[in-house]
Amino acid sequence: MSRSAHPAGPRHADVLTEGHYSAPAADLNVLDEKVWSRTVTRDADGALTVGGIAVARLAEEFGTPAYFLDESDFRARCRAWSEAFGPDADVFYAGKAFLSRAVVRWLTEEGLNLDVCSGGELTTALDAGMPAERIAFHGNNKTVAEIERAVTAGVGRIVLDSFQEIVRVAHIAQRHGVRQRVQIRVTVGVEAHTHEFIATAHEDQKFGIALADGQAAEAVRRALSLDGLDLIGVHSHIGSQIFDMAGFEVSARRVVQLLAEIRDEHGVELPEIDLGGGLGIAYTSEDDPREPHEIAKALSDIVTRECEAAKLRTPRISVEPGRAIVGPTAFTLYEVGTIKPLEGLRTYVSVDGGMSDNIRTALYDAEYSVALVSRTSDAEPMLVRVVGKHCESGDIVVKDAFLPADLAPGDLIAVPATGAYCRSMASNYNHALRPPVVAVRDGEARVIVRRETEEDLLRLDVG
Ligand SMILES: *Cc1c(COP(=O)(O)O)cnc(C)c1O
Repeated sequence: MSRSAHPAGPRHADVLTEGHYSAPAADLNVLDEKVWSRTVTRDADGALTVGGIAVARLAEEFGTPAYFLDESDFRARCRAWSEAFGPDADVFYAGKAFLSRAVVRWLTEEGLNLDVCSGGELTTALDAGMPAERIAFHGNNKTVAEIERAVTAGVGRIVLDSFQEIVRVAHIAQRHGVRQRVQIRVTVGVEAHTHEFIATAHEDQKFGIALADGQAAEAVRRALSLDGLDLIGVHSHIGSQIFDMAGFEVSARRVVQLLAEIRDEHGVELPEIDLGGGLGIAYTSEDDPREPHEIAKALSDIVTRECEAAKLRTPRISVEPGRAIVGPTAFTLYEVGTIKPLEGLRTYVSVDGGMSDNIRTALYDAEYSVALVSRTSDAEPMLVRVVGKHCESGDIVVKDAFLPADLAPGDLIAVPATGAYCRSMASNYNHALRPPVVAVRDGEARVIVRRETEEDLLRLDVG
């Protein structure tokens, strides 16, 4: 069963004494390289360093909580993805995972394309110099103003998500005298999350147009009949934090089947398919993500095999990793404020951030790891729950983890793998000031998104 099949989730059934944790690592001082960005290590004094800079210095200069993003790791992951897929495929970074102008420049320099799903993301991308033809525009309810902006900017593709949108985009494109390149997002009836996927009965969601009852074929018919649209392919995105390629297998098979039906009915072979994103990363030592080259090979083998069977020319493949590129490249640094041991249960460790800088634990029951990073310790492991400072008991950052029993207020702890969907989903709950994102590289650290200030809060509140 996928997690989404349990709306009540284990988090509501959870009894405090029942944890979902595994035994503590043999040595809590050892940083599992799977969950930390590439340049993270401990220096001679035992403090964590990233890009050659110790966390104490980072905390002093930039404050806590803060996200520290390992720029060379980010760039290396971009290159690994584009090299793995090669010149006959396209890698689109999913900007919703984390987008800033610096990130756009890195992507542009590393040759990646970019997915956006709002006017704000599009503005950021264009402002930082991403060529419009390398941008794909997504979303299930793009406004007319957003479509106008995307069409006039000349984005490389708009991914159509409904019958209304097919007509809307066609009219806007025609009004501007262009043929807009588009894909149609189809719902293939597969939903994948983490290690499992469900291959039927997942049409019940807001994205895409269902394959199952001929809706997608009808959408294709309409798109092909409109002068304003240049239909280049079909798009499918099946889930998030996926490790098992079986969901992609089913999805690719169904998408190729649709391409074959389109050829039979219209005599056209659409040149592209987009298999979406959702590839998993290691949040804890239990997770075993695949390398980009294994994913690329698996996907291209599946598509090639299905196309041979359907006697179709193999289309150009695109993929849209967000989390898999940015997720592992950042950690959140917090200062420990209070520590409450609950006899026979666990110890609550409160930090200076919380659900305002990482909503994923509360929202998805996400798992994270945590480490003491300002020093090493030989104390016994203690079972902890890392919680934030918000007025909400669900304000949990790391549900179950082990930290050394001599943990004290003022210690710095860090939660790795927070590069994706943490700053981008951050909120001002309790009028929290959203933390900065600091890029670290080769001994230098610079703010790429600054910390919010109280003036920022008051500026929006016009009285
Ligand atoms: C969210 C999303 C992605 C990226 O998902 P990740 O889990 O970050 O890889 C890619 N494509 C589409 C259409 C999405 O909605």
